Amino acid sequence: MNFIEGQRTVTDDELQANDITRYHVTRFYREHITNSGYYDQLKHIVEPSLDEFGSPGNLDTSGEHDNTVVPGFQHKYPRTGLLLVTDKCASYCRYCFRKRIVGKDSDETAVDFEKIAEYIRRHLEMTNVLLSGGDPFMLSTAKLNRILDHLLPLQHLESIRFGTKMIAYEPKRFEDPALVTLFERIQSAGKAAVVVTHFDHIGEISADADRNIHLLREHGVQFLNQSVLLGKVNDSVEILAATFAKCHQIGVRPYYLFQGRPVKGASHFQVPFRRALEIVHGANHRLSGIQKTFKYIMSHYTGKIEILDLGADGRLYMRYHHSTGTEKIGKIFSRPYSEGACWLDELRDAPTNLV
Ligand code: SF4
Repeated sequence: MNFIEGQRTVTDDELQANDITRYHVTRFYREHITNSGYYDQLKHIVEPSLDEFGSPGNLDTSGEHDNTVVPGFQHKYPRTGLLLVTDKCASYCRYCFRKRIVGKDSDETAVDFEKIAEYIRRHLEMTNVLLSGGDPFMLSTAKLNRILDHLLPLQHLESIRFGTKMIAYEPKRFEDPALVTLFERIQSAGKAAVVVTHFDHIGEISADADRNIHLLREHGVQFLNQSVLLGKVNDSVEILAATFAKCHQIGVRPYYLFQGRPVKGASHFQVPFRRALEIVHGANHRLSGIQKTFKYIMSHYTGKIEILDLGADGRLYMRYHHSTGTEKIGKIFSRPYSEGACWLDELRDAPTNLV
């Protein structure tokens, strides 16, 4: 097998024992990153590394299993339902936090959409459903329409969201004219149609992606972007600022910058908080107010935590952006910073010291 570090012979058993993500890259993405001028950074997104064999962590860092209420459907935060519609992606990111599912034949994807609709019907607090996976645009447009048949009649849903990296990996997927009809269908049902793209680096934003986003925006689709802060890929003030500025320019609102998660086989991508905050603050200094619309977030078992700053008192200050318990939302808390820490669980005391 080809690794970034060179060719090695590995057995299937070794790959399985180490939960090594399946290797696949679209021809489009491979050619695009090769010619992007950023290959030395972008190769780490899709090319396997021997580091994957030694990175500690687990395979469900956000407690997805515990929040599953119907097979393939999670309800962690009151307003949002998360629907896993497929375990396939166009290419496989080496840092994927759902590597326990993607590229495999998983039993964690949704099958019984009527049962899921029945659950949503009983939860009037839920205002939006996020289709994810895997990448929902791996499904045919006809299949996506059949899923929407179950969701669109639910009056209390205000938006249907799609989380996708397809616009980076295979932007031509969005040239399917039936997708325009699908997005219009969502809007005709009185709901916002939202696509959350996943650009980690300005070098991933191709002219094809720009053109297809432009077309769909003309049809009323809203675009947001989420990125992951990744060592060797985008852990640079210049790259991060340029990525968010480019997103803004093409009509995609920077939304979340995720702290890398301690995923088994992918934790070598994590950037320690001190360095990460220098990058985030540096990028913010380079962006105008209308470009710095992102929050730097740790998607933790207990909720989505915004990472604010490292204080002069040596404590890391954070705030719950979303939480399983709504009483925590908006509350600032801190923990003593431990040099090199990349995740809440590596900081010492419990998040009780509210200020
Ligand atoms: S596109 Fe998303 S789900 Fe698929 S491998 Fe990448 S991070 Fe994982």
